[in-house]
Amino acid sequence: MSIIVQKFGGTSVADSEKILAAARKAIRTQKKGHQVVMVVSAMGKNTDELVRLAREITEEPAAREMDMLLSTGEQVSVALMAMAIHSLGHQAVSLTGAQIGIKTDSSHTKARIQSIETDRMRAVLDAGKIVIAAGFQGIDEDFNITTLGRGGSDTTAVALAAVLGADACEIYTDVDGVYTTDPRVLPEARHVARISYDEMLELASVGAGVMHSRSIEFAKRFSVPVHVRSSFSDTPGTMIVADPEAPDQPVCGAAMLKNEARVTVLGVPDRPGAAITVFSKIAAMNVTMDMIVQNVGADGRADISFTVLRDDLPATLKAVEDATRELGAEGFNCDGEVSKISVVGMGMATQTGVADRMFRALAEKGINILMISTSQIKISVLVTRDVAPEALRTVHEIFGLETEPASLEAGGGDGPTEPHQAAAAANAVASIQGMEDLVIDEITLDASDARITLAGVPDRPGLAARVFEEIAAGGIVVDMIVQSIGWEGHANISFTVPRKDLDKCIALTTELASRLGCSAPTSSAAVAKLSVSGIGMRSHTGVARRMFSSLAEVGINVEMISTSEVRVNVVVDAAQGEKALAVLKKEFTDVTV
Ligand code: ASP
Ligand code: MG
Repeated sequence: MSIIVQKFGGTSVADSEKILAAARKAIRTQKKGHQVVMVVSAMGKNTDELVRLAREITEEPAAREMDMLLSTGEQVSVALMAMAIHSLGHQAVSLTGAQIGIKTDSSHTKARIQSIETDRMRAVLDAGKIVIAAGFQGIDEDFNITTLGRGGSDTTAVALAAVLGADACEIYTDVDGVYTTDPRVLPEARHVARISYDEMLELASVGAGVMHSRSIEFAKRFSVPVHVRSSFSDTPGTMIVADPEAPDQPVCGAAMLKNEARVTVLGVPDRPGAAITVFSKIAAMNVTMDMIVQNVGADGRADISFTVLRDDLPATLKAVEDATRELGAEGFNCDGEVSKISVVGMGMATQTGVADRMFRALAEKGINILMISTSQIKISVLVTRDVAPEALRTVHEIFGLETEPASLEAGGGDGPTEPHQAAAAANAVASIQGMEDLVIDEITLDASDARITLAGVPDRPGLAARVFEEIAAGGIVVDMIVQSIGWEGHANISFTVPRKDLDKCIALTTELASRLGCSAPTSSAAVAKLSVSGIGMRSHTGVARRMFSSLAEVGINVEMISTSEVRVNVVVDAAQGEKALAVLKKEFTDVTV
């Protein structure tokens, strides 16, 4: 018999009427001949209220007691949900995380699922009853109650769907699915029928918060098709599956992270291990770095720029001051008034000219780009906060996101696109390791590129557009692009091109440099790009750090860096490519599938 998991978020169970409505949905599904597992969040803002209560007692509540407290929110709603189903004449059993057997590690308030028992749920289902599972919670080895981090009920739902081999995982929420960008910011945002796991992950990481990121990682890892839909209407929502909405569409969504701060460490000695000093000090402050851009300097020194949440700026600056001194770097500067605009799409991995279209559109609006970082399916630019909404509107428009792609694949909105093998996948992977462990699925080496750097370019609107349009006009395909802030009003731009095009590209950029009034480009004739991709790259902080420190240990210098939700890319000298590949493979053997 097919199993359907239905998750109801806080707003969908905010009062008794809504609880009854959710109960009716589950009963209807059961009547269609499915076994139903409901996963329920705490009612309305109940979790926030519990957090507030704790803070009233103490500034620093013990994490274990916090979990004891927060888990009660879900316990209330599962019990009420079971009563609602009973009152409608059907059978249901509510279960806490512990009663199901959701085992987690012991990191209270942000625990990771290690395994899930299915026997009890199956017994209840086989008896013709609806299972009502408390979201967001589990139990550790010593029977302590744990929680999975705010918003964690999504993760519970997808995890249960995975271990049960469910046919569908429906996430009922207060929005009717995923949009091309936040409709509260841009009313012209379009509802999308389907989006791929990778696109959703990238979008979630750059500010589009529809679901808990870890739940998407889970869905991807266990091939669970996820249907995000409104609990207040019956319209189809958005399917999150392996394939994108339209394969030839370069961009599927755009997002804005408004409150960012940019920090640049200037004149870092360009030697192995320099970057890692900066990163470790920041990590030690418990600050997550976001857009990391390292540029080769002209004179054997590099600039490292990155963004952090604006609230983390004071702590970050302390760490940076320390690192600057220790490294003998020239100095550092920062800007607390910046926002990040990103576009994401599977199509851009195979299409050229996507980045320059974006840069040109921004230039035409007179919007200056402060920093650029590109990855396989994401382009992010940093702009000043006052122009961020306009920048978002501009990129949304240039990629025609408000109109449905012509090549929309038939049936995209209705269901899973691939035969669903979650159970098999879950058994295979769960049996060898914790369900939520970091998984590296690929470490690749591409040694066919060359690197070019333009340093000290006068930084004005249109700069990036001009550079990359001229290169594109020369018929050269650019791969990875990073632009960072150099010294006052000047930018450094590095990018990689196919090695065969290097001479042509040097000629082109030398000429361009003289017109722009900056020094001639520097280049590296042979570089290698190493990409580490996988699941849990962001939630398991330290992947980038492990990469850099293992490379530094064997004396390999990193020339360029770009990071994304599913991948970290570094560029090193080509002569070191094979060695770097071996080092990384060894470094990550414990987590490679
Ligand atoms: N109730 C928890 C929270 O508000 C978990 C959830 O809603 O997913 O964070
Ligand atoms: Mg909630």
